Amino acid sequence: MRLNQTYTNKQIDIPYLLKIGEGKLAKIGKYLSDKEFGNIALFLGEGMEELIGDAFFAGLKAFSIKTVFKETVTGIDLESVAHTAFSLPAGVDAVIGIGGGKALDFAKYAAYLLKLPYVAVPTVMSNDGFCSPSVSLTVSGKRKSVKSGIPFGVVIDLNVIKNTPDVFLYSGIGDMVSKITALRDWKEAFRKGTERFNDFASLMAYNSLDILFLKHSFDIRSSEFQRSLANSLLISGLAMEIAGSSRPASGSEHLISHALDSISAKPKPHGVQVGMATYLCALLQNNENLADVASVLKNTGFLAFVAQDPFDRREIEQALKSAPSVKTDYYTVLSETDSFDRALSFLNTDNLLKQMVK
Ligand SMILES: [Zn+2]
Repeated sequence: MRLNQTYTNKQIDIPYLLKIGEGKLAKIGKYLSDKEFGNIALFLGEGMEELIGDAFFAGLKAFSIKTVFKETVTGIDLESVAHTAFSLPAGVDAVIGIGGGKALDFAKYAAYLLKLPYVAVPTVMSNDGFCSPSVSLTVSGKRKSVKSGIPFGVVIDLNVIKNTPDVFLYSGIGDMVSKITALRDWKEAFRKGTERFNDFASLMAYNSLDILFLKHSFDIRSSEFQRSLANSLLISGLAMEIAGSSRPASGSEHLISHALDSISAKPKPHGVQVGMATYLCALLQNNENLADVASVLKNTGFLAFVAQDPFDRREIEQALKSAPSVKTDYYTVLSETDSFDRALSFLNTDNLLKQMVK
């Protein structure tokens, strides 16, 4: 039988530079110098140059790190990433990405093409993409997930994360709870013989949930919570590298989110879609952690946040219909023939769902 992924005899990478804490942006020059980098290519999200401020550039200068290329990323089509990557000046020895999804994916893929070390400096904690082995690029006009490498380094300045709006943190929380349904879908796919399973990657993904949800309160504005969210998203990304697939972090709930991206008149942030869909899919799976998902969504304020601007019921129904065909040969609970009807009845009867979908 042909399995979806081959991940035996695969080399696993880990980040060699990992810094999470307050004031880390100003210290990047030192971190790069410690790793003997001297000439960097810098890719910034829009508005990032003002956000990171003078301290960042002063920090580079203090350790004689030269920015030999600097660009503000606006689009992420594959051709422009490749074009920029191969036009970088000679002598660049590390690529740095600072910002949210786009700038990081641009920089990550440019570094991957050039086989250069890449350091991710995420400025929001809205999903686990900053340390995952793939990027989201536009290929022939369509958003596609494209394989790449994981970063050589990740630097997260909690002072920057602290100032981001709630929506990013809720998105990060939604992307984290999704491990609960993704791992169950993965196990089921393995039982059905359509997927390999990796115990260590699964353990890591479960542990990444524990880091976030067992240790402390659910106050999303506390620095302790934000530090744990950053840790969890990072470990979740690494679990994908170890598994050699996105299975530990992406199952039925991600298929619904991908479907919403193409159906929705106004898609919500990735993790907000994924978080709502996780609760629905946990119901469909009779997931033993359903109560945990509900408690996280309620106690962090995710539920109230979504209830202010709920999902459109018709769009959710459409997404449920098309979600199983988003990926071919990919078993999830949505592949079960009665899932659609059961989902409709949960949408009619479940108290939490009725607040999130109207
Ligand atoms: Zn995700």
